[in-house]
Amino acid sequence: MTRFRPTVVEVDLDAVRHNVRLLGRPHVELLAVVKANGYGHGDAEVARAALEEGATGLGVALVEEGIGLRERGIDAPILVMTEFPPGSEKEALAAGLTPSVYSEAGLAAVAEAASAMGRPVGVHLKLDTGMHRVGVWPPEDAPLIARRIVDSGLLLEALWTHFADSEQDAAGTLEQLQRFLSCRDLLATAGIRPRMSHAANSGATIRLRETHLDLVRPGAALYGLDPGAGIGSAFGLRPALTLRSAVAMTKRLPAGERLSYGGRYALEREATIATIPIGYEDGYPRTSVGAEVLIRSRRYPVAGTITMDQMLVDCGDDQITPGDEVVLIGMQGEEHITIEEVASRAGTIGRDIATGIGERVPREYVG
Ligand SMILES: *Cc1c(COP(=O)(O)O)cnc(C)c1O
Repeated sequence: MTRFRPTVVEVDLDAVRHNVRLLGRPHVELLAVVKANGYGHGDAEVARAALEEGATGLGVALVEEGIGLRERGIDAPILVMTEFPPGSEKEALAAGLTPSVYSEAGLAAVAEAASAMGRPVGVHLKLDTGMHRVGVWPPEDAPLIARRIVDSGLLLEALWTHFADSEQDAAGTLEQLQRFLSCRDLLATAGIRPRMSHAANSGATIRLRETHLDLVRPGAALYGLDPGAGIGSAFGLRPALTLRSAVAMTKRLPAGERLSYGGRYALEREATIATIPIGYEDGYPRTSVGAEVLIRSRRYPVAGTITMDQMLVDCGDDQITPGDEVVLIGMQGEEHITIEEVASRAGTIGRDIATGIGERVPREYVG
């Protein structure tokens, strides 16, 4: 479809490649987490860039996401990081997706579907070492379920876990790691040695080498999103995402005029107000406080309530005209608005903003 609105996300695949190089050092495999449409960046495009740069697999949250990647021609290993939902097992295995397993019911369903496949199916056994979302709990039960995996004819390819606060809490993360490693020892004592162990999300990949094991599993950091506490830019990650639009209309308004729904922004002086064709439906957070955008390489405040499809910007006495480029996230000239800045003004994190950018905003690729 022809696009008429200038509002777009631009994704820099060179930045993704750079981040993959930085995160997956030569001795550690990297599984690129591309769930949620690649954190809003486009999953197939990011997956291809990461695989070109040496990633050996992909991670998704949903069977649907994995099948979607297959339909777009991606044949790398894809780990579904929760158990296949009941009823999805046959299709998921037919698409060559790798199952996570952590419950008896989940194991039984995968084993049954796998025996109908007539080929060996490898699974990743997930342990709950403290996140308490999904995984075998208590993780010391791992040998039991591992034994059942092997007995039911499945291959136990990997043992894995997930950290709750690797960005901030090194001690707690290392405790989780210790518990994980001692469960791996229990398995070894029972004669079961999965080929791989993995644990590290972005925060752990960046901060805690000892968590790398055989494979790291970063999401946020691939995209140059800060995993937390500013550790991303210090590590040299490059943000891949730019959100831009263009001025649709300008008008000169006298002091005293009130702007947008609810009239919450009153002009204290005469000003040029620019209308930008992006709103909260597009994922720009309606709840932003003190948000700014870039026009002609300068910062201007968002003025008044952000509406569904449009927002207003107070340009003071500057010469701004329709068609001028507006950058909401990213670089313009020497100025930069990070996604973390936009997120913090809305009381959330960069991942939330990136994944929330609306489907009607086209993704364009450079690099
Ligand atoms: C989302 C997710 C990741 C990636 O997390 P980041 O913090 O974005 O790097 C890794 N593993 C699992 C299980 C996940 O759900």
